[in-house]
Amino acid sequence: MMDTQQKLDILSRDAQYDLSCACGTKNPAEHRRQSGDGSSWLYPVTTASGGAGIMLKTLMGNRCSNDCRYCPLRANQDFRPAALGAAEIASFFYDLQKRRLLIGIFLSSAVLSTPDKTMQLLIDAAKILRTQYRYRGFIHLKIIPGCSLSAIDEALLYASALSLNIEVPSADHFCQLSATQDYGRDIMERLRYIASQTAVGTRHEHVGVSSQFIVGASDEDDRQILSAVNDLYGTMGISRVYYSAYQRGLGERGIPGEQGRVIEPDLFGNETSSAPLVREHRLYQADWLLRVYGFAYEELPFTQDGNLSREKDPKQLWAEANPARFPLSVNRASREELLRVPGIGPTWAKRIVSLRREGRISSLSAIGFPSSLGGKASRYLTL
Ligand code: SF4
Repeated sequence: MMDTQQKLDILSRDAQYDLSCACGTKNPAEHRRQSGDGSSWLYPVTTASGGAGIMLKTLMGNRCSNDCRYCPLRANQDFRPAALGAAEIASFFYDLQKRRLLIGIFLSSAVLSTPDKTMQLLIDAAKILRTQYRYRGFIHLKIIPGCSLSAIDEALLYASALSLNIEVPSADHFCQLSATQDYGRDIMERLRYIASQTAVGTRHEHVGVSSQFIVGASDEDDRQILSAVNDLYGTMGISRVYYSAYQRGLGERGIPGEQGRVIEPDLFGNETSSAPLVREHRLYQADWLLRVYGFAYEELPFTQDGNLSREKDPKQLWAEANPARFPLSVNRASREELLRVPGIGPTWAKRIVSLRREGRISSLSAIGFPSSLGGKASRYLTL
């Protein structure tokens, strides 16, 4: 009989490619790094406000009744099953966070029997933490595709954040991955319902909502993904989207459907990735342009095959394609204009605007760019 830590070892390993939580790090490879103390269920995360910490992240169970082709947990696979009870994970987490500072808990699960039975496990764990242990910290619950709306209502009572993975940009792409789920009904309808219940002015507006794409498991291109992302942020009001590169060789189980895929070295030197992490990285960069830097979807630079360039940052490519927009005066450019300069993000745009309040900026070196940034940004700036 396995104890809780042994179950967590198995389940957290299976959860490591599910990155969708309302926190994240700047480097996608960072998501995959564990805390380094041997506890594979503890993950380093960065909060929306820029703080750093450790989160407990696990599945409640790993034996899934669904059939997603990209997933090593799909039905009828031969692997070691493990499952946690709601009271078991609640008490384990509560004891642990009394001894060391944890930012919160992220609970997800394979579909154990039915979506609603699985949701009940997740909800019960959160409910025990909130009501029995009076835990007031961060709880992220994964919403299981196809669960009832009443299960979502109950999850909203206890969660700080919810996520439901969209996986691919359309029903046509989804058909390539799963025969047991209905994209429109099980995923999009539920996502729209969550968005409506957490919209500004509603009772649950404080609950963050995120989603995730699995990148490269079907034949979608980056343009299709980012068009869907644009709708998620714009029309639906989802607060954060994550991207997870489909990778072969997840543990010893492997993934079918690899034949014919090209093995390319990726940005981080991983030569076994079938959807290179560099693609995931470029999607995150384009996501920042949409979500933080004020770019419109129509401004994103796609190559002729509908993808982002693997070689260059999309913001850099946009700047090179729009020479008439530069150079910008550091003394007159608006914050929004400064955010379009390669190398300048919200922190440096804010610094330039606040320096100007103290008087005219007389040299670019007065801004204090680090050497890694100064050359890049200075080419687009003037006094
Ligand atoms: S529902 Fe989730 S755990 Fe189950 S096969 Fe699909 S992706 Fe894997």
